[in-house]
Amino acid sequence: MSLTFGPDRRTHVFECDCCHAPVERAWNFVHADGAPYAVYFANCYHHRDRDHDAWIDVILGTWGAGSDQWDDHVTFACRVGPVAGQDTPASTLVQAGLAQPDAPVFGRKLDREAALRHPRLPEFWQVSDFVLEHDPLVRRHVYGA
Ligand SMILES: [Zn+2]
Repeated sequence: MSLTFGPDRRTHVFECDCCHAPVERAWNFVHADGAPYAVYFANCYHHRDRDHDAWIDVILGTWGAGSDQWDDHVTFACRVGPVAGQDTPASTLVQAGLAQPDAPVFGRKLDREAALRHPRLPEFWQVSDFVLEHDPLVRRHVYGA
């Protein structure tokens, strides 16, 4: 499966709930073998007094062809950031959809336990790794310039 970005990447800056620092968000489709496959929302936090991390939601499901049915959509999320005792940032599964708009497109928002048991978990890691490596905002935020 070959992953690529869709043509309509967007970004947005808003204020952090906890410290009013700017939060940078990027979102886009990820295509697999040329067809829409997933949507991600990545929030990059610049907290004043906590770790600078990124929270990535990935929605998997059926897309396109006039389909506005979201009953097979499922959302996973991870936090990527510094972890004590480790040199490189780590990804940890978290409750999905915490910092995202509440919309039916998200389908079922998985918590950590449900995500661990879900058969599509490996696909989520594949998409989130792709976003980490290739979305310019997320990559810069997590790995530095
Ligand atoms: Zn904050």
